Formats: sequence, C-alpha cells, structure tokens
Amino acid sequence: MAERMPEPGPGPFSAESRLIHAGTARAPGEPATPPLVPASIYVSEGSPRPGRGYGRDGNPGWEALEQALGGLEEAGAVAFASGQAASMALMLALAPGRDRIVLPQDGYYGGRVLAGRLRPHGAVPVPVDLRDLAAVERELAAAPSVLWAETPTNPLLRVADLARLGALAAAAGAPMVVDNTVATGLLQRPLEAGATASLYSLTKAVSGHSDVILGAVVSRDQDLLAALRAWRSSGGGIPGPFEAWLALRGLKTLPLRIARQSDSALAIARHLAAHPRVAAVHYPGVDKSIAELARRQMPRGFGPLLSFQVSPDSASQDSASQDSADAADKVVASSELILPATSFGGVESTWERRARWPAETAPAGLIRLSVGVEPASDLITDIDQALEVL
Ligand code: PLP
Repeated sequence: MAERMPEPGPGPFSAESRLIHAGTARAPGEPATPPLVPASIYVSEGSPRPGRGYGRDGNPGWEALEQALGGLEEAGAVAFASGQAASMALMLALAPGRDRIVLPQDGYYGGRVLAGRLRPHGAVPVPVDLRDLAAVERELAAAPSVLWAETPTNPLLRVADLARLGALAAAAGAPMVVDNTVATGLLQRPLEAGATASLYSLTKAVSGHSDVILGAVVSRDQDLLAALRAWRSSGGGIPGPFEAWLALRGLKTLPLRIARQSDSALAIARHLAAHPRVAAVHYPGVDKSIAELARRQMPRGFGPLLSFQVSPDSASQDSASQDSADAADKVVASSELILPATSFGGVESTWERRARWPAETAPAGLIRLSVGVEPASDLITDIDQALEVL
C-alpha cells in the first residue's frame, strides 16, 4: 500500500487502532478480547433492558462487532445474518414513500434479484449504468427514489464517482446507499461522499477467512439505524453469536490483509494486462479511463478483487461466447494453488468463471479472481501455468 492517508476521526488515534481495541472492556479482570456469548435468553424481570431480554433483540458480540464496524466510518452499525439480510432490511426500511430503487445494471446480481423479489412490498428496481451521470439524474428525477450504488462493482470492477452521485442524490432528495463490500470501509468512505448508508457483506474481506456469512449496514442516521434494528428483530435476520465473534476476530487484521491483497492484486492485474493470452483486465489500478477517479476515491488501494477475460466476448449465448466460456473453464480448472470457488476477500486466493451462476449478467468468459495473502509471485506462477492450457 503506497500512500498512507491521515485518518479522519475523533481523538489522536487512527481508525486502524480503534478497530483493534473495539469491543474490549478496559476494566481489571475483563477479558482482553470480547467474549463469545451464545445466549438465546437473558435473566430479566419486569421491563427488560433493551437487547437483554430475548436473544433475537441483542447480543454483546453483535454490539462489539458493530462498535468496530461503526468506528471505521464514525457512524453506527447494525449487523445482520448475511449481506442479503442487511440489504433486505435496508431496502424495506427505505421503501416507504419511494417508488423506485435506482441500482447498477452491472453490480452484484443478488442485489438486483432481491430488489425484484421485494417489488410487491416497495420500490420498482431501475437498473442504470452508474458511470452515466445524466442517466442517473434522469432516473432519480422521474419519481421519489433510493439510489443504490456499488463501486467498484462486482464482478466488472467499474468505478462510479461517489461524490457526484451523492450530489445528484441530494439534489433529488433521494437517500444514497453504497454497497462498499469490495472496497471495505478501510479503502473507501461512502458516508463522506453523502451516502446515507454503507452496505456490507461481511462474508468477504471484512471477516476475511471464508468461514462466516454475515452482513451489516453502517450509517449516521439514527432513525434509519433504529428502523434497521426493528426490521432485524421482527424479521429475525440476526447474526449468530459465533459468526459475529469470528467476524470481529477477522476484522481486526483487515488493515494488514487488505494492504497485501491490494498490492498483490495490482501486481497481478499489471501482469495479466501484459500477458499475450489475456484479452482484457478489469481492475481500477490498470484501467486508464478510471485511474484518476479511482485513486482519488480509493487512495489507499483498490482491494482484492479483479476480473479478466482470456478472449473477448459478450453476455450473449452465441458460439463465440460458448468458446470463451469453455476456455475460461479450462483455465480455472488448471490452477494448483488458487482455489476454484466463489466469493472473495478471503486469505486464500479463489477464482471462478463468474457467468456459471444463472442470474449473473457478466460476459460468458469472465474469470473473477479474489487475491488472497499468498505471495504475489506464487500466484503469478500459478496463473501463468494455468493460462498455458489455452
Ligand atoms: N454485496 C456484494 C457486492 C456481494 O458480492 C455479495 C455477495 O456476494 C453481497 C452483497 C451479499 O452478501 P452475502 O453473501 O453475505 O449475503
């Protein structure tokens, strides 16, 4: 990680230091790490303390995790059973009085699927290219809306200008949500660009060890945080105490992991861009058209996720796309170190042909690579030998 940006925030200490100590009670005899509390009920009589009557309403481990997550963005946080549970609560909480949810046409496909399923209960999903600011402005002006942004997008790593999107949302009176899963709150700070909420799948880099499914919303809007807690309690999309404990444990090393992953991903993206068997590479650090914006928006690095194509293709079902899908499948099957698997952000490098998932709209031959913490030179050796199969 080349540049070290000064950390905004309260007190003399950085967000990284606050993260390490979040959730720890600094009192004699207390454990140095927040304890795992697997409780479904708490001892209580009469009017129960908030969050300490029934386990669906609160757990000390959620609170420790939420303190750490919120501390990264000087905000409050609400943890959920998954990124999708967090998205569902957020979509439902923001739907009243709003007709549309304007979302990226190339972002995480699960977000579009979820918004479509929630349609009878709220807003109409309107897919746009978030880089087309005129289109975003037009869609926001058409009816009261939520702007649901994602940058960099999964899996094409497109970068949208958060400050300008925030200004458009503010002018239209629309709350802006940013799915910040790819960057994490360490590399990118959406609330500073005017977002009402940052959305996270903690399943990815935040927990970082491919052993939990979990999600969260981070916001400075107290009414929204209260609404999200109410949706969590009544809907039941609660984090398991053990998952919350694992996520907090992982989160404390996020700064170390994401620095190495960002450095390695940049080195690998540059290597792929010069590789004779690679037709296209998608990573903010190598895409010249977005380099300036990406550096301004993510000054500390671009994260662990990149994608590439071994032959040019589109999302169509023609024979050229079938050929590029077959070529990508062969490459993925030929690695010896990189694990063929979905998801991203873990310590182990993984890759997959993304369009193998039926609802995904990515080009048929797109390979999505999540760079782990193995030495970059080993990963490049593995990628090169896998590309030999072509
Ligand atoms: N947002 C993004 C960008 C994702 O990639 C994912 C999952 O892949 C999610 C949200 C949903 O998270 P989860 O799988 O934890 O429900």
